[in-house]
Amino acid sequence: MFEKQLRVYDDTRALFHLPAGVIYLDGNSLGALPLGVPQRVDRVIKAEWGDELIRAWNTADWYVQPRRVGDRIARLIGAERGSVVMGDTLSLKVYQALAAALDMRPGRKIVLSDTGNFPTDLYIAEGLIATIGRGHQLRLTAPELVEMSLSDEVAVLYLTEVDYRTGRRHDMAKLTAKARSLGILTVWDLAHSAGALPVNLAGVGADFAAGCSYKYLNGGPGAPAFVYVAPRHADRTRVALSGWMGHAKPFAFDLGYAPAAGVERMRVGTPPVLAMAALEASLDIWDRVDIDEVRARSLALADLLIAEVERRCPSLKLVTPRAHGERGSQVSFAFDGGYAAMQALIARGVIGDFRAPDIMRFGIAPLYVGETDILRAAEIIEEVVGGEVWRRPEYQVVNAVT
Ligand SMILES: *Cc1c(COP(=O)(O)O)cnc(C)c1O
Repeated sequence: MFEKQLRVYDDTRALFHLPAGVIYLDGNSLGALPLGVPQRVDRVIKAEWGDELIRAWNTADWYVQPRRVGDRIARLIGAERGSVVMGDTLSLKVYQALAAALDMRPGRKIVLSDTGNFPTDLYIAEGLIATIGRGHQLRLTAPELVEMSLSDEVAVLYLTEVDYRTGRRHDMAKLTAKARSLGILTVWDLAHSAGALPVNLAGVGADFAAGCSYKYLNGGPGAPAFVYVAPRHADRTRVALSGWMGHAKPFAFDLGYAPAAGVERMRVGTPPVLAMAALEASLDIWDRVDIDEVRARSLALADLLIAEVERRCPSLKLVTPRAHGERGSQVSFAFDGGYAAMQALIARGVIGDFRAPDIMRFGIAPLYVGETDILRAAEIIEEVVGGEVWRRPEYQVVNAVT
């Protein structure tokens, strides 16, 4: 914590592994590998698991790892100390958060979300509503209509801040304030916010939030999710997945459930120690960067990508809002041949991704993406799109994971 602050890109680029010849514009889906990860995981495997064996739960503090890591993430999302805990996947954490919020508004039946939300969030809400079986309804509006759709019928406003497809960003402060004035609780999904832009959960008065750590936070595939519960609710939250690790005294092995104090009750079962060790090595970098600097770099790089692509490839239609305040850290273009064009780009070392039906996504992760990457990527995009390279048959084959 007392180490010197790192300058974004100038100091941080060298802390990541990227294969030669790759321009990586998919850090919004799976962040790049921090060089400190292999060594850290190796140490945890050999010195902790290998030598300490079961004792490591105490001697290596495995038991407190979920809240220790939660506190490091809290700093990046403007959360109070002790209000964030790690575990499971984001799908489970939004389930728990939504369940807790619905429980606090027993008289209201509407969960309000939007058509830009990520499908798993919507599926989880459907499943939860069916399980509760009390006639709740998931109501979806267009993203622009969310604010005017808030009313005193709504129990929970359930949104992802940054749209995974378009990069459009909701005004979290404004929507949370309006929701609060109507007695609506908020559950914010920060999948495309944490590590991408400054978030101020405590400042805006959010009730619940969750996010994943394998996107901009570079925790690696399968890195655990985080969940936030505002301290004003934490001791009253009813837990839907009441597992033993969220019990007040897990090692008393009581037959009945009694929730732990605070956000720790959102823990479910045994934490993924090895996966979280990788995330901790990544957070060694995050602890030392200024998220405002990350944001300023991200916006400048995104502006550059937009300008270069629009100049070179008029057939790509920008779907990300131009206004800085209205977007996250990705740039998306609609293009009919988008899937094939992305395959052709990947074959040329420019890794972005594709989201149905026609969106080409380019994520900007300024810790390891710089201006020369953006300029080179724009040249290659021009080659592929302008030169009609994407029409070749080998780029039309659709993979299972896009
Ligand atoms: C990436 C993402 C998820 C993924 O959930 P997992 O349970 O980690 O697979 C969920 N919601 C949003 C908004 C996402 O962007």
